[in-house]
Amino acid sequence: MSATIEVRNLRCEFPSRSGLLWATKGVIAVDDVTFSVPAGSVLGVVGESGCGKSTLARLILGLLKPTAGTALVDGKYLFDLDRKARARLIQPVFQDPFASLNPRQRIKDIVALPLTAQGTFSRAEIERRVAGILERVGLSAAMGEQMPSQLSGGQRQRAAIARALVLEPRIVICDEPTSALDVSVQAQILNLLAELRRNLGLTYLIISHNLAVVEHVSSEVAVMYLGRIVERNETEALFRAPRHPYTQALMQSVLTPEPGRGVPDIGLGDVMPDPANIPAGCRFNPRCRMAVERCRTAAPVPMAGAAGTMVECHLA
Ligand code: SF4
Ligand code: MG
Repeated sequence: MSATIEVRNLRCEFPSRSGLLWATKGVIAVDDVTFSVPAGSVLGVVGESGCGKSTLARLILGLLKPTAGTALVDGKYLFDLDRKARARLIQPVFQDPFASLNPRQRIKDIVALPLTAQGTFSRAEIERRVAGILERVGLSAAMGEQMPSQLSGGQRQRAAIARALVLEPRIVICDEPTSALDVSVQAQILNLLAELRRNLGLTYLIISHNLAVVEHVSSEVAVMYLGRIVERNETEALFRAPRHPYTQALMQSVLTPEPGRGVPDIGLGDVMPDPANIPAGCRFNPRCRMAVERCRTAAPVPMAGAAGTMVECHLA
């Protein structure tokens, strides 16, 4: 199967924020990330707060400039495309539909934005497409006339999904698509995303701190830790037999609802991973129960297995 999206050696380094003269080291938020997602499949990217998964999404979406690396969609170099061309290939769905929808615009005008921004669609064509996509995501024409504040959280996320799909992109990047929603609504949105993918032939990158979300929707999973993908496997195999000690620790735990508010007790101790201060050797070694002497001095190299699987650990 051909790769619809291919990310090669992507790296993003921010200058140090401390402002201290002796702090010459920058923050490496994304460190040499490589993967491809075959057409029509779903790669879930999972990891704790601060692991670089949202930065990865923003790099691919062109919202941040990478320090190095490339991304291709259907063989086209994404970073060479202008904003309009990129929007036709790849679209985002973000965590908080309330923050991402303009409160002063009607839902149907918000959903129409990617079309109007292209400057090539007639008014009639825009209306036809907006009506079609609203129906597809389960919103009525009457809801299209309303303002975001008049809709529920789930309806707003449906509107955000409609806006992402109205241009008929190939790839959708969802960053924590259900984290801001009530638990009762989360499954509906995930099922909607799955149904749309099947019916429209989409490819997804789904980013979440929530293992259950990733397991529910992904065909393959990449586990991220401090900027690097440390394990990748087909979803069922990864959950059945996690190989990296970090993946194993994540699975033995249930992460708290939203990152950034203290370290959940996941048997990983209370060392918060700090992208500004990446440990020498294996970056996971201060929290790893299986660490051996070599882990403190030598970084493990990625070991590729069958069919795109990968693990980065001395003991694997
Ligand atoms: Fe743990 Fe060592 Fe493997 Fe890193 S390389 S995950 S420290 S065992
Ligand atoms: Mg995030």
